[in-house]
Amino acid sequence: MTRAQPGPVATVAADAAVVPAQARRASLGILGGGQLGRMFVHAAQRLGHRVTVLDPDPASPAAAAADEHLRAAYGDPQALARMAQTCEAVSTEFENVPSTALRVLAEQGCRVAPAADAVAVCQHRLREKQLFQRAGVPCAPHAAVNTDADLDLPQLDALLPGILKTATLGYDGKGQVAVPSRSALSAAFTALRHAPCVLEKRMSLAAELSVIVARGRSGHIVHLPVQANVHRDGILAVTEVPAPGLAAEAAAAAVAHARSLAEALDYVGVLCVEFFLLEDGRLLANEMAPRPHNSGHYSIDACDISQFDLQVRTLLDLPLPQPRQHSSAVMLNLLGDLWFDPASAKAREPDWAAVLALPGAHLHLYGKHEARRGRKMGHLTVTADHPDEARRTADVAAHALGLPPLSPPPRTAGR
Ligand code: ADP
Ligand code: MG
Repeated sequence: MTRAQPGPVATVAADAAVVPAQARRASLGILGGGQLGRMFVHAAQRLGHRVTVLDPDPASPAAAAADEHLRAAYGDPQALARMAQTCEAVSTEFENVPSTALRVLAEQGCRVAPAADAVAVCQHRLREKQLFQRAGVPCAPHAAVNTDADLDLPQLDALLPGILKTATLGYDGKGQVAVPSRSALSAAFTALRHAPCVLEKRMSLAAELSVIVARGRSGHIVHLPVQANVHRDGILAVTEVPAPGLAAEAAAAAVAHARSLAEALDYVGVLCVEFFLLEDGRLLANEMAPRPHNSGHYSIDACDISQFDLQVRTLLDLPLPQPRQHSSAVMLNLLGDLWFDPASAKAREPDWAAVLALPGAHLHLYGKHEARRGRKMGHLTVTADHPDEARRTADVAAHALGLPPLSPPPRTAGR
């Protein structure tokens, strides 16, 4: 920068020339420091924002990318006070952050999105299902199981075979036990340590879908295209967009339900709603996440506005044009299992070169220090002009990495 000549007029010019641009960009905070936080940091920094991550883990993937890491428990009053002082707006990257932390930040003057009350609904399967019913969105038949006495309720018969799920803290299929018959119910409740649970009827799924909506403070809502998800062992394995064979009416219904839920919650931020599409064509809401979602990662590479961009925009009341998908996409989740040789179980590094050689392959690794089986270490999004091409290339990538093939495609659903 050239310094202006001394003199009264020049002094004004010099002062104007050194106004720190960064000071005009809001600092943002994120509660939770996993991969979702890391991708939020990337999106926020691209718009010039500083980001502070609150996470007790010294090896937090988000903190490694952030401007500041507050290494403390989520409820730590000092850390929350520091975040409130330095950050204009705060979001969360996982639903199990204590909703009190969000309340404390809001009370201290931070813009917080989503609000604590909305997060609290998404933290509890029963409250979530009550919201589905209130918003007129169908969900699977279910009943609360809170005590041993509840196990004898006659209405449970109609829910078997079912799945017993803890009301809180479940993720990636954890906190769930299959209950084939009434005689297995008591053992399932014991396996879940008598925690408050929901028994859900096991449904015959033709496909699993999810929809991500973003709602601003004005109530304006936009959405990403409907995603088709394949889970293995309760963990998301593959997301495909456009959803293969999905009827336009079923896609429209999923989007309409997701929008209704965001409205019923007076939600601000990014919300993901998971759905079951049944063999008989019915669409049921499964669960919600008050944040970007694993099934929306493809949007980074296949859409002009990603789910993390949407998170930044809703947080700061920035414009929310409808995102457009510019490429077909298949996303493969990369779990820690890939870091172990299947035959010898010895540690290995997956063959990244083989993957990076493929056209349209976008590799995202989260910088986690330790690979463990079932741990989300990264994802690969394959983009292409046509869905078949994305699928073919994704199959080549899956083979190179030692993942099961994608084919056959999910059954044509919702027709
Ligand atoms: P999580 O919080 O672990 O994602 P979910 O309730 O979404 O919990 O269950 C994980 C997966 O288990 C679902 O994506 C689906 O594949 C299967 N699943 C869960 N509930 C049912 C059900 N009622 N009927 C059939 N499959 C189910
Ligand atoms: Mg789920």
